[in-house]
Amino acid sequence: MTTTATHCPYCALQCAMTLAPDRPDEAGAGVSVAGRDFPTNNGRLCRKGFSAPELLASRQRITAPLLRGDDGGFHEAGWDEVLDLLAGKIAATRAEHGPDAIAVFGAGGLTNEKAYQLGKFARLALGTRLIDYNGRFCMSSAAAAGNRSFGLDRGLPFPLTDLREASAILMLGSNVADTMPPFVQHLEAARAAGGLIVVDPRGSATASLTDDAGGLHLQPAPGTDLELLLGLAHVVLTEDLADLDYLAERTSGLPALRRTLAPWWPERTEQVTGVPAAQIRRAAHHLGNAARQARDAVVRGEAPAKVFVLTGRGVEQHVGGTDTTTAAVNLALLLGLPGTLGGGFGTLTGQGNGQGGREHGQKSDQLPGYRRIDDPAARAHVAAAWGVDEPLIPGPGIPAAQLLYSLGGSNGGTLPDGAPGPRVLMVHGSNVAVSAPDSHRVIAGLRRLDFLVVADFFLSETAAEADLVLPVLQWAEEEGTMTSLEGRILRRRRALTPPPGARDELWIMAELARRLDAPGTYSTDAREVFDELRAASAGGPADYSGVDYADLDAGRAVYWPFPAAEHDGAAAPAAHNPPPAPAAPDENALGTPRLFLERFAHPDGLAKLVPVRPAPAPPGDAAGLRRPGGGGSHPDGDPSALALTVITGRLLEHYQSGAQTRRTGELLAAAPEARAEIHPATAAQLGLEDGGWIELRNNQGVVVVRCRYSAAMRTDAVFVPFHYPGAGSVNRLVTGATDPISSMPAFKNALVTARAGTDP
Ligand code: SF4
Repeated sequence: MTTTATHCPYCALQCAMTLAPDRPDEAGAGVSVAGRDFPTNNGRLCRKGFSAPELLASRQRITAPLLRGDDGGFHEAGWDEVLDLLAGKIAATRAEHGPDAIAVFGAGGLTNEKAYQLGKFARLALGTRLIDYNGRFCMSSAAAAGNRSFGLDRGLPFPLTDLREASAILMLGSNVADTMPPFVQHLEAARAAGGLIVVDPRGSATASLTDDAGGLHLQPAPGTDLELLLGLAHVVLTEDLADLDYLAERTSGLPALRRTLAPWWPERTEQVTGVPAAQIRRAAHHLGNAARQARDAVVRGEAPAKVFVLTGRGVEQHVGGTDTTTAAVNLALLLGLPGTLGGGFGTLTGQGNGQGGREHGQKSDQLPGYRRIDDPAARAHVAAAWGVDEPLIPGPGIPAAQLLYSLGGSNGGTLPDGAPGPRVLMVHGSNVAVSAPDSHRVIAGLRRLDFLVVADFFLSETAAEADLVLPVLQWAEEEGTMTSLEGRILRRRRALTPPPGARDELWIMAELARRLDAPGTYSTDAREVFDELRAASAGGPADYSGVDYADLDAGRAVYWPFPAAEHDGAAAPAAHNPPPAPAAPDENALGTPRLFLERFAHPDGLAKLVPVRPAPAPPGDAAGLRRPGGGGSHPDGDPSALALTVITGRLLEHYQSGAQTRRTGELLAAAPEARAEIHPATAAQLGLEDGGWIELRNNQGVVVVRCRYSAAMRTDAVFVPFHYPGAGSVNRLVTGATDPISSMPAFKNALVTARAGTDP
């Protein structure tokens, strides 16, 4: 039997798996899957990974282009017909309204090759500056904080397996036990040491890992993570737990930080967050003592029991998410962790290629290699790699939410500057009708467009709105690379033949570019595209120039940055190779498994301690809902209603908008609909039985779902998963407000009025 070594199509853990198609040359043939031994998953898969092959043979698969007809329905059409039509629409729209009348929306699930090519295609073939992607909803606050504090953003700047040697881990706003279950094995050492500290307003599956192991679950009021971090940092700094030598040698900005932390003594922090002062002290002392023991061990030349601070979307998806993540970085720096062998700071990327997807030019403000698009030197380098004159590369565009709200220039959609918005939109790998904030507004924008093109393999809720749907390949039918949450580049390999009507997006871009007589070249071969990506990234922050398919195919661990000059076929040279480390993940690793061991990426080599302060109460929070006791009040004195904060998130069974997992039989059967997790006491105030209908309403929209009792939920909040469309589509309730630095929407704290509902 022919087997293919590849990786899971879903989350950023990128679990290694082996596929064994029944008949590799036959599209739609059955495929069996097994977990493969690999450092991050050790042969394990979650139920999403095990069931992923079902979709390869799904009868819901789109196998021919779908063109909307005059009757309003879709009709199958030939590829030449639809590509000629689309190229004609683009050319005519561009001629009449300018290149920014066309926009592109990409995704963090695309391979590195496709993400790179999409950025190039948008800017050169379409000539538009309007490209952004759904990773803006995922990692933008973490990326902004990493760049601000360290001068470089890589989710985990150390191998994930380092966590296995931890005696203490502070995990904020991440529920890995549901979102990436094989990750939990890496928490076991910290858990066994009683050092797992989880921060989450919700009693999540990850929070419950602390129940029987002496760890801590800190349950702040929604939206008060920043204040909690300030309180933890205050204790570290004032109770002799900070690493002052490290702070003096490796950071800048301590005096200013010290001033902003001064008011956050634990009792005041408790008043704001609801987390008891004793728990704040206990957490800070556990982290501080563990960090001290780790650095003492390093000095003695012993293997340290490491200490980590990790963040996830729970603290990042807020207006102010960049500042909150920065506060977490500050805490890690006070403890002396980043860039040492004693631990570190990291953010846990969610989407499959959430890391690589943000490095190669899909972001509105970036070019390949994680370069800024407004940097003249970066523009000149990339223009040379693309073989075009630098002025041909447009300037910065606008971030994802603003782009989606501006759609439909001929029907009233406007850009933030008041100019008409785009008239044609191409969507690749994203289901924005479900996953974007203020989804009613997004759907209205999609419907204002002159022409919407969606490349997908299923008729997602976004594709259902399209004028043209282009059927593309699934993960097991394509070649390419992905970059996992630890910055390791992995090979995605073709295991079976795609349906005859489906096409690779590289081919689609090449065909359109040819029809548009576009500048530049557009290869249809993933390896050729990757070689071009290597050249375009050379010298940039995310330098892939030393990475090649041969090393990846040989199973070598390759982490960026990996400049070509360091590729000598052996281990990386000393500049990027850590000193002999007790926990080397793979002594043959290439590139940079551990960042910042010698210096941070700012010009002075230091990490920045950036003072951050809580923002004033956000609009709509006049009642102080995010303060203990604030939530749960009766709006307008109505005894049948409660003011609550809605926290959105993911379930074990589903991935992102659910466009794939809702089509997987066992996953849909296990979690067929959205349910609002609510504290029984809150439910009782609303007169709700367990399983009864609850209505959540605000200015953005209304959601009606069944409720599920959870005694581990705070009484001032409900949790609703965002995988579902229709009446349970919780992103209807999320406002369009975004973080001023990262443009991250505030998915985690929609304010609503809750009351008992009826079956929608
Ligand atoms: Fe692994 Fe994530 Fe896939 Fe589950 S969904 S098998 S955790 S990569």
